[in-house]
Amino acid sequence: MNYQSILEEIESEIQPLFNEGKVASYIPALANVNPNQFSMSIQMFDGTSFGIGEVNKKFSIQSISKVFTFTLALNNYGKDLYKRVSHEPSGNPFNSLVQLEYENGIPRNPFINAGAIVTADSLVSIYKKNSFENILDFIKKVSNDETITYDEEIFNSELEHGFRNYALINMIKSFGNIHNNIDDVIKTYFKQCSIMMSPVQLAKSMLFLANHGENPLTNECIITESKAKRINSLMLTCGHYDASGDFAYKVGLPGKSGVGGGIVAIVPKKMAICVYSPRLNIQGNSLIGTKALELFTTKTGLSIF
Ligand code: GLN
Repeated sequence: MNYQSILEEIESEIQPLFNEGKVASYIPALANVNPNQFSMSIQMFDGTSFGIGEVNKKFSIQSISKVFTFTLALNNYGKDLYKRVSHEPSGNPFNSLVQLEYENGIPRNPFINAGAIVTADSLVSIYKKNSFENILDFIKKVSNDETITYDEEIFNSELEHGFRNYALINMIKSFGNIHNNIDDVIKTYFKQCSIMMSPVQLAKSMLFLANHGENPLTNECIITESKAKRINSLMLTCGHYDASGDFAYKVGLPGKSGVGGGIVAIVPKKMAICVYSPRLNIQGNSLIGTKALELFTTKTGLSIF
C-alpha cells in the first residue's frame, strides 16, 4: 500500500476543518501554539516510516503520557493495580470529579486524570523522589531515544493553573487512595504531562504495543503479551474519555489523545501512528487528528474491525 500518497490525500481532505475546534486554553503555553498545524507519522515494524508535515517538531504530549505511566505501573504491580484504578470507560470528561464520590475514590480507568493521578501515586510509592526521572527513563527506553525531555514553562503553568487536578487528588486522598505526599504526586503528574515529543518519537514509542509488548525495532521486551493486550483494550475503550465510543466507531483502533493536540493509534501487528493538530473538539481530543485517523482507516481498511 502506498502510505505516503494516502497521507497526502488525508492532508488535502482535512483542509476544510482548519476553522473548526479550539486549541487548549487552560495554560498560556498551550493557548499560544499555532492552531493551524498538521503532521502525521507512521512507523512500521521494519523501521520504514512515512510522514507528512513537521514530523520532527516536538509538542506537549499531555495525556498521552498516561499510556507510559500505566504500562510502568502495570509492570510493577500487575493485577493489584486494578484494586486502586479500575478499567471501565467513565463516560465523563477527562477531569471529572463526580464518580469518585460514590465509587470510594477508585477512578474508573488510568486514562482519565483521576486514574492517572492514582497511577502516578503508585509510582511515587516505588521510586520516591526519583519518580519523574524513572518515568522519563522508561519513555526513553520504549522510544529508544535519549533526547526526550520535559518543558519547564508548561510544567510551571500546570502547577499554577491546575486547580481541578488539586481538587481531584484531594478528593482521592480523602478516600485513602493516595498513599504519598500530595505535592510529590501532583508534581510527578504535571511533569509527565509536560514531556515534549515529536510525532516520529511518539509513533516509535508505541510500536511495542502493536507487537505483543516487544519493540520490533530493538527486539526488546517491554511488557508481556497479556499486559500489552490489556493496555490496547483500555486505549480502545477509554483512550478518548467521553469520546472513546465515538473514536472507536469512527477510527476503530486503540488510541490515546492529549490536550496538546496529539493522538497515538495502534495498528496491531503492523504499525504505530501519531497525528498532531492542536485544534480540539469539545471533549478535548484533536479534532483534525481524529478525522485524519478516520480517513486513514477508511482508505486503508486497517481498522481492527
Ligand atoms: N495536563 C492536562 C490536565 O491535567 C492533561 C489532560 C489531557 O491531556 N486531557 O488537565
